[in-house]
Amino acid sequence: MPDEDAIRCDACPVLCYIKPGRTGACDRYGNRDGQLVRLDPHVVLDRAVSRGDSVVPFLDRDREWDGNIVSGPAKFVTAIGAGTTYPDYKPAPFIISSEAQGVDMVTVVTEGIFSYCGVKVKIDTDRHLGAETNLVRAQGEPVGHVTTGEYGSQMLSLGGVRHLTGGSRKEGTVTCDTLLNLCNGKAVDLAIDDGATVTVQAGKPPVVDGMQEERMRVGCGSATIGMFAKRWFNKVDEVVVVDDHITGVLSEHQAGKLLGVPETGIKMKGRRSTPGRYFQVAEPGTAWGGTNIEDPLSILKDFNPKIAWAGLRLLMVSTTGEHHAYFELDEALRPVEKDLPSFLRESVARIKENCEPALCTVLFMGGAGGSLRAGVTENPVRLTNSVKNSFTRVTCGGAPVYVWPGGGITFMVDVTRMPENGFGYVPTPALVAPIEFTLKLSDYATLGGYMDHVRTLDSLMTDERRRHLSARENNPWPLAKRQGTD
Ligand code: SF4
Repeated sequence: MPDEDAIRCDACPVLCYIKPGRTGACDRYGNRDGQLVRLDPHVVLDRAVSRGDSVVPFLDRDREWDGNIVSGPAKFVTAIGAGTTYPDYKPAPFIISSEAQGVDMVTVVTEGIFSYCGVKVKIDTDRHLGAETNLVRAQGEPVGHVTTGEYGSQMLSLGGVRHLTGGSRKEGTVTCDTLLNLCNGKAVDLAIDDGATVTVQAGKPPVVDGMQEERMRVGCGSATIGMFAKRWFNKVDEVVVVDDHITGVLSEHQAGKLLGVPETGIKMKGRRSTPGRYFQVAEPGTAWGGTNIEDPLSILKDFNPKIAWAGLRLLMVSTTGEHHAYFELDEALRPVEKDLPSFLRESVARIKENCEPALCTVLFMGGAGGSLRAGVTENPVRLTNSVKNSFTRVTCGGAPVYVWPGGGITFMVDVTRMPENGFGYVPTPALVAPIEFTLKLSDYATLGGYMDHVRTLDSLMTDERRRHLSARENNPWPLAKRQGTD
């Protein structure tokens, strides 16, 4: 039996009984003098212009700012700290009306509980982190897998309902903890089965096997040949750009052919795809160009003695310029390493210069389900349709989201565009993420909104528990009129 003075939190299915002065299982709610309170402050975004932080207007970036403080509210009530209502039929915690550009608007905010959610992680590195589909572990527990690599980046898919709820209790708890930390911008150590360990933090360089990655590759080996062929023409006889995916060879590549680079008799290991482009010259790894080779000559066969000549100059370089070596053929047509001539240093430096800083990107991805949509309208499918038809704007802590086409409201958001620590959790386990729906008040009424729960923006501003943050400059203002809407 719970203590008599304990109060019950009904903000999620756990239904904690909380004693005075204590918090519930998720630390989001507490019993303060017999009152159930959301402990974190409720975050309100101020347009930067209103706080004097910036004079860059957010509204209609295609128009010049006329110098006036733009019309409409300079405040946007986010869902961070707003709390959650449960079960599904209760209206969202805050349904706020405001006027924007002469139009009555409403914003419905709630901290959604996401059992169906995860993160997509993009790690800018050439290095092989692990084979596609291999498990990714945190604290020894499986929390996701390696997914299809992208141009210059390795990709992880973490979380999801199967890891959160379909495995052991520990797997679910560790998955939730991993997602929470990543979404709140904290560093997380991950280990990939038969692969590397990597420390991931949104907006920061990845650390692979203890080494911080500095730069992502300029392109694949073939693209690098295409970009720099002119720089190498007449300065060196042959260039091999070593890459785990497509290794490029200057004399055979179309870029070399068009410039008139003569044949050199070079012979490569691996599988020739098209002229000057080779696949699988080595195994994936964390050395030259994301391969496992430490010695670049290991991917060459003997030169063709009918074509090659003594003194032939050969540059081998990785797609980041991090690895490079220069050789000249001796009388037996064997490559002999020499110092990189100064006239080739510049081209290697240019490859490095064109490599962008390596970063980790964390996108939260979740599906707005029952509680969420039913908290906005009594007819949830109308909310989905309204989002699909662009009548309702979805934001996450005021940050723009990408809503997937097709059924449901499945969205993605870059966590670095959100206010810090905007995410929470409940021990079901599930992640708690802020979500706001903004639409015209008239449309809200049409789709079956809770009109008798609409409050004015001003009525909220008297409460001191609200925390005011400047809106981020690179985010569109959530209440700005969209192009093409009236
Ligand atoms: S876990 Fe948190 S939200 Fe859920 S009932 Fe307990 S205190 Fe409330």
